[in-house]
Amino acid sequence: LSERLSGVFDRLTKQGALSDDDVKTALREVRVALLEADVSLPVARDFIAKVQEKATGQAVTKSVTPGQQVVKIVHDALVDTLKGEGDPGDLKIDTPPAPILMVGLQGSGKTTTTAKLAKRLKERDGKRVLMASLDVNRPAAMEQLQILGRQIGVDTLPIVKGEDPVAIAKRAKTQAAMGGYDVYFLDTAGRLQIDAELIQQAADVRDVVKPRETLLVVDGLTGQVAVEVAQEFDDKIGVSGVVLTRMDGDGRGGAALSMRAVTGKPIRFVGLGEKMEALETFEPERIAGRILGMGDIVALVEKAQETIEAEQAERMMRRFQKGQFNMNDLKMQLEQMLKMGGMEGMMGMMPGMGKMQKQMDAAGFDDSILRRQIAMINSMTKKERANPALLQASRKKRIAKGSGLEVSELNKLIKQHRQMADMMKKMGKMGKGGMLKQAMK
Ligand code: GDP
Ligand code: MG
Repeated sequence: LSERLSGVFDRLTKQGALSDDDVKTALREVRVALLEADVSLPVARDFIAKVQEKATGQAVTKSVTPGQQVVKIVHDALVDTLKGEGDPGDLKIDTPPAPILMVGLQGSGKTTTTAKLAKRLKERDGKRVLMASLDVNRPAAMEQLQILGRQIGVDTLPIVKGEDPVAIAKRAKTQAAMGGYDVYFLDTAGRLQIDAELIQQAADVRDVVKPRETLLVVDGLTGQVAVEVAQEFDDKIGVSGVVLTRMDGDGRGGAALSMRAVTGKPIRFVGLGEKMEALETFEPERIAGRILGMGDIVALVEKAQETIEAEQAERMMRRFQKGQFNMNDLKMQLEQMLKMGGMEGMMGMMPGMGKMQKQMDAAGFDDSILRRQIAMINSMTKKERANPALLQASRKKRIAKGSGLEVSELNKLIKQHRQMADMMKKMGKMGKGGMLKQAMK
């Protein structure tokens, strides 16, 4: 893919903003990349449409091509789509004994993943774990879990011949409570395909133990099938998360994107081999990189953007040293603040700003204010921005109207500008910008 893309990208060398054509050309290739990575067609189509909207008109960073920039935008959008809320590795096991139900098709890796998770909970979190196999279909399945349990030093529920899955689940529940376990896993039987009996069995077990987590284990190599399976399991049983196994193989991870987009379920863990250690919490960046297969381009664009920001900061600093600080400077600062995680991030980095931050906190200052302030500055004329002293009553009214805000809010902005300009002047004099230079690093 990289080669094909670079061919297209070489032709896109215009600078400035991304044009419709730039974006379309680059996205056509990205779409192929998604499909090759096993992302389903409707998901790929939707995703591309969203990115297209976002990318068109965005400024192109100086030292990269529009095509490269689009890839970065696509990458970020992928990460955004893939990531769920909170920490994927955080299993809900607060009230002991917490039941975790493992479901999925036969051979997807349920038993292996059960043992991997048990080991993780035991070793990382110091939990007491019990595992129970409900797989009465295959004679060897229960022994398989028992052997793994011995290997990792985790208890398994004693095997009783002839019991049905619900009876085993009940016994596991009792045993977990009496034995003082923090967590117990129920490793269910799988089928080659979803059928009514399998679903019924899982539902019955679910109703008996009321699992804190129902983890669906799917084979990441099966692409589209995995997504259908996930949809079905979620509809019929309800799952709280997905584990993608065999991500050590050469599947390209597209299933992950489709899975998220179609079911909305978070991917929690990724299986990376047969060994008990081969389990990781899900990292959207890694899968996004794998889907696009162009990690270096993404890094390149990130680097280029950093450089530009550094150049901008440098230029601003020189102005401040001369005691110049107009509304354009303020606007740039506000925009930077938004980018750097809002007020907290920015102010925290600038010495002498602590007091101002406190004032702002007290006044209920947050990022939406930053956006409103930028809107107000946008409504000013060039002259007004360069020389805020021009801002008298009638001009104020016009600006407030233009940005859809109150004059009082504009007054606050003007006051803030004056305070900051004063401070900049002082700092400039004090250390010939030395202090500011430090702050901007
Ligand atoms: P179950 O039928 O769902 O319980 O599946 P198993 O846990 O028995 O796994 C089936 C096979 O897949 C076993 O040989 C496992 O070692 C293997 N397996 C499970 N997870 C992974 C994984 O993440 N990567 C690889 N390469 N193999 C895996
Ligand atoms: Mg099994």
